[in-house]
Amino acid sequence: MKQTGWKGYVDWNGEMWLADSEEKDGFSSIWKVKQVLHKEQSEFQEVSVIETVGFGRALVLDGIIQTTERDAYIYNEMITHVPLATHPQPKTVCIIGGGDCGAAREVVKYPTVERVDMVEIDPKVVEVSRKYLPAVAGEGEPDPRIRFVYDDGAAFIRSHKEEYDVIIVDSSDPVGPAAVLFEEPFYRDVYTALKPDGLMVCQSESPVFYPHVLKRVRDTLQSMYPVVRTYLATVPTYPGGIWSFTLASKQADPLQSPPDRLRDEDTKYVNRDIFRSCFVLPNDVRKFVQTG
Ligand code: SAM
Repeated sequence: MKQTGWKGYVDWNGEMWLADSEEKDGFSSIWKVKQVLHKEQSEFQEVSVIETVGFGRALVLDGIIQTTERDAYIYNEMITHVPLATHPQPKTVCIIGGGDCGAAREVVKYPTVERVDMVEIDPKVVEVSRKYLPAVAGEGEPDPRIRFVYDDGAAFIRSHKEEYDVIIVDSSDPVGPAAVLFEEPFYRDVYTALKPDGLMVCQSESPVFYPHVLKRVRDTLQSMYPVVRTYLATVPTYPGGIWSFTLASKQADPLQSPPDRLRDEDTKYVNRDIFRSCFVLPNDVRKFVQTG
């Protein structure tokens, strides 16, 4: 296996593969690349889109797969429908990150939503996702309720007070520009930016490979909010397969929210039973988030 000089891409017997540049516990996933559709160094990261053999097109940032056509819907539905169905009447929503636009596409399925501020640091991610990944980002012009803001999510949220019903932190892993989105000062600013009955959700990484990140996120949120719930989904693309999300709320509790608030008419993964069952944690995760 030879390095190609591009982050994560290797030459293996004359074929190009993407070896997830973020090795964990001696584990790395490796994807056979049919074609590199786009590759450029943006101001923030190396942005590429590849055609994989079995998972369709994929967005890759700094050599790390972010999303694939085959299973993007699982992550995007879970990070959006669960908080939106928990809030009794979500009107103002902020998405931090989420440049592949898949989360924004789900949020606008809720008719009560009047405005979605999508705060992505890197305009290139939005541009290439809309061009090469319409299966994830959606075809055609985005819903007019979505306002694209190109800024650091941490800086943006600092200047807002009691403005949002729901804040969705759809960030990449806690390295590079996203590291700040896993720190306590950012979570404090998110709390301030939420209305008195608001709630937030963030992707809190793999409970298999990064349980300490999940634990730290959860502990930090528990020091601020009366309701904190971790939930899981299986996303084959992500290392370890099982992915965690943590929801923190000033009032509404997803365990008490009527499941018929869920707009699951055309979802592929989430449904009313999953809205209930996703909060059931396996013993090891349960023990870890409580006491680990
Ligand atoms: N679903 C994906 C996953 O969990 O791997 C991630 C979704 S999305 C591609 C993550 C986005 O967060 C990227 O487009 C990245 O540019 C953006 N991002 C990283 N740091 C950011 C920051 N500080 N402010 C706003 N967006 C940021």
